[in-house]
Amino acid sequence: MADFLIVGAGIGGLATAQALLRLGHGVRVYEAAAELREIGAGVVLGANAMRALDELGLHAAVRPVGTPLTAVHLLDEHGRVLNRADTTAFTARLGYDNLGVHRADLQRELLRALPPGVVHLGHRLAHFEQTATHVTVFFENGAQATAEALVAADGIRSRVRRQLLPASQPRYAGYTCWRATVRAGIPGLPTSGTSETWGRAGRFGLVPVADGRLYWFACLNSPEANNPVLRAYRVADLQRHFAGFHAPIPQVLAATTDADLLWGDLYDLA
Ligand SMILES: Cc1cc2nc3c(=O)[nH]c(=O)nc-3n(C[C@H](O)[C@H](O)[C@H](O)COP(=O)(O)OP(=O)(O)OC[C@H]3O[C@@H](n4cnc5c(N)ncnc54)[C@H](O)[C@@H]3O)c2cc1C
Repeated sequence: MADFLIVGAGIGGLATAQALLRLGHGVRVYEAAAELREIGAGVVLGANAMRALDELGLHAAVRPVGTPLTAVHLLDEHGRVLNRADTTAFTARLGYDNLGVHRADLQRELLRALPPGVVHLGHRLAHFEQTATHVTVFFENGAQATAEALVAADGIRSRVRRQLLPASQPRYAGYTCWRATVRAGIPGLPTSGTSETWGRAGRFGLVPVADGRLYWFACLNSPEANNPVLRAYRVADLQRHFAGFHAPIPQVLAATTDADLLWGDLYDLA
């Protein structure tokens, strides 16, 4: 059995830790953040992701914190259906639901399933050095750790990837997004399906997560990344932008506070 270091306690790092432990390997996870706070918004886990979680023994923990999604609707700005994909076919074939879940709930359940002492917070990788048999990771706090293998799970701006594959750089995708999770209670909200509305002003998506909460995202094309005007957007700016969009989009925005808004440009790996 081998000894692994994993850098990053996001969804990928925590799930990989569970998988390696189940195979009998030694695992230590190092995370830059001093605490794993309830940040992020919603994610959709396909039936194949739910099957993978089952193989990790995590299905029973994750399934109750999400909402099963049975359809994906593509709408125009007046709410007319452009396309409807029935996702129950995947559920029937694989035997697992497609699930809308809050990222923080998913991360919490992945973390809770690990034995105590596996995850070390407050350790930001600075660089690593490797020999033919071992790899040593050096952290910004002065600590270091050595093992037989290192798994890079430190996200889109991974320092491990930058050191190992310097040519692989994040590439701005040409659009920027706001996300939030709101308490529902708004008439006309989807309860078991997701929708994405395409209009001249941009794209707007709705995904039910759990406990009557709804995750929404709004995307606008923007040729330049980190646009200072868009970065300063508040809910009122989005309301103006998406004013002509069908219900319940204006109502969802009206239920959102400026403090709920998460903003970020979208990047792909080139
Ligand atoms: C705070 C946050 C909120 C997010 N919210 C959403 C969301 O609402 N919806 C959505 O679809 N996707 C969201 N994402 C992205 C989504 O979780 C990931 O794209 C996807 O799950 C891939 O997971 P990952 O484990 O590869 O990377 P991530 O989930 O990005 O996790 C990477 C982890 O590595 C840590 N890390 C980074 N650099 C270092 C370093 N040098 N040393 C040690 N640790 C390091 C980060 O703190 C983070 O915990 C979010 C990501 C983050 C970090």
